[in-house]
Amino acid sequence: SLRDTPDYLLHYLENDDNWNFDILALERVTDRKPMVHLAMRTLRRFQVCQYLQCSEDTMLRWLQVIQDHYRADNCYHNATHGADVMQCSAYFLSRDRVRLAFDETDEAASLLGALVHDLDHPGRTNPFLINCRHRLALLYNDISVLESHHVSLAFQLTTKDDRINIFKNMSTDDYKQLRQSIVDVVLATEMAKHFEHVGKFANQILAPLLAMEEEAEGEGGAASQPISEEEVQELLTRPENRSLIRRVLIKCSDVSNPAGR
Ligand SMILES: [Zn+2]
Repeated sequence: SLRDTPDYLLHYLENDDNWNFDILALERVTDRKPMVHLAMRTLRRFQVCQYLQCSEDTMLRWLQVIQDHYRADNCYHNATHGADVMQCSAYFLSRDRVRLAFDETDEAASLLGALVHDLDHPGRTNPFLINCRHRLALLYNDISVLESHHVSLAFQLTTKDDRINIFKNMSTDDYKQLRQSIVDVVLATEMAKHFEHVGKFANQILAPLLAMEEEAEGEGGAASQPISEEEVQELLTRPENRSLIRRVLIKCSDVSNPAGR
């Protein structure tokens, strides 16, 4: 059954909380379907099923459907990439500063958003789809065409079948908030908006953090004292800042391969 990870896979999954985790080795032994087992382990670690109040069987069926809707003939934006970005997101979610900033909704949105963020990617860019008047470009009015498609398809698939609807037991308000965050992180992966997101992150989070550190160091660095964690937490947990951190977190995960993995 899907519920039990086969013994031969355990060896390939055991470093899944490590930066140096080898997604390509897992891809090879799973015949290019590494998402379901890797994601299930990660979602267990972050207790996402408990948060969603959904059964593990529902989650497994959902993961299977998501994995199957990535295109196997796309040599980069396939299910391996979706699993890879989730694994990297999980790594960042475990860092101290991110743990200080995030609550369980942020964690669930980051992991589920990463899993679906390139769903059904056709291997073409937004400008290509717009220029050839592709049906997706027409549907989304040339605005964030692919990103809109990835996240819209994910919610359509999820909500049309109760057997895979991982959100069906959530309260209306919790669902609304989680959905908004998942849509937001997937739309943030559009490279055309890169400098907008990075600029806001630098101004609203990095600059104030740097100022706090400089203040803590004092005049000439003589009266050096540790930076106040309460002050940092107050800054990082403001709703608008959590949203910026979620966006930058998925962006860093999305382009993590050239970062020396
Ligand atoms: Zn991607």
